[in-house]
Amino acid sequence: MPGLYLHIPFCKQACHYCNFHFSTTLRSKPALVQALLLELELQRGYLGGAELASIYFGGGTPSLLDFGELERLFEKIYQLHRVRSDAEITLEANPDDLDREKLRTLRDHTPVNRLSIGIQSFFDEDLRWMNRAHTAAHARACLRDAAAAGFQDLTLDLIYGAPTTSDAHWAENIRIALAEGIPHLSCYGLTVEAGTALAHFVRKGTAPPVEEEQAAHQFEYLQSAMEAAGYEHYEISNFALPGRYARHNSSYWRGEPYLGVGPSAHSYDGVSRQWNVSNNARYLRALEAGELPFEREALTPAQRYNEYVMTGLRTLWGCEHERLEAFGAPFAGFFRAGIQPYLSAGTAAFDEGRYRLTRAGKLLADRIASDLFWVGEVK
Ligand code: SF4
Repeated sequence: MPGLYLHIPFCKQACHYCNFHFSTTLRSKPALVQALLLELELQRGYLGGAELASIYFGGGTPSLLDFGELERLFEKIYQLHRVRSDAEITLEANPDDLDREKLRTLRDHTPVNRLSIGIQSFFDEDLRWMNRAHTAAHARACLRDAAAAGFQDLTLDLIYGAPTTSDAHWAENIRIALAEGIPHLSCYGLTVEAGTALAHFVRKGTAPPVEEEQAAHQFEYLQSAMEAAGYEHYEISNFALPGRYARHNSSYWRGEPYLGVGPSAHSYDGVSRQWNVSNNARYLRALEAGELPFEREALTPAQRYNEYVMTGLRTLWGCEHERLEAFGAPFAGFFRAGIQPYLSAGTAAFDEGRYRLTRAGKLLADRIASDLFWVGEVK
């Protein structure tokens, strides 16, 4: 079932590790909302009139939108699209934006039924190191207030592998999330992305490089703790109680169509991908002129195969034998030969017609996927 993504490209301050598209200048927020309304109009036919199963406000920091801005966006979305009555409607939010009043307004006066909260850590030392705008006290308070406002569908982002995140911090972060009864967690290993402040600090020697061993054993601890608590590890970075998978993100991983609006947003219609310009000023100028600022690429069979392998191996659903065969003999044969050493080593397994990574294999997910990527032409 198709989904709609809205990219809100503003943040209060830049987290040192982040390479998403955002601006810390909020002056153009009203103009950006106006441009989003226009893009929604111009792209109304992209999903062929299909009913929306999910709506996702991501960023950036969508919780910087005020009530009036959200109201106008929802009004437009419901005017242009049929939305399933049980649609998952997620807003990404930072703890420092979620005071009681905002939470009440979101719950009682908007269709938002799920919050994705960027907690990252419950320790001030980690949060300062990451240059997050919130404190540990904000992180704890917003969980309590979200529950009091009636939000039951919460997911938290947590980061492991940072130099200040000791094993004790990491274990405590997971313990707190579990004790709060959070049904879904997204946990990311810290990576040093080009162009970020962190990359600059590492180059200058003022921050240490990511310690691979620390990240690996914190990931292993995470897998054990979540399994013991009854969560399913359904995507490499995502854990959910049974039946509480993120429906919007799962639709990406399962190759379903979606429309993305806003600067840097991507869209997929099953045949081609398109992506909007990653620049707020250029995005605004284009929409003010009534134009859509995107590039499009029709996916080749090799690109479709590679995407399937990459997303399939990262998920509980794995890569289906039948789907691989449907890509054609060269691809299916290449995959079968490439996965063999991993089956023998016990880092991948084949059962019920699907190839999946084992627990040990999940540590090597990117390497295994890249070994199975098709490079070059199809003969
Ligand atoms: S991590 Fe989130 S809040 Fe921090 S800069 Fe990136 S998008 Fe903004």
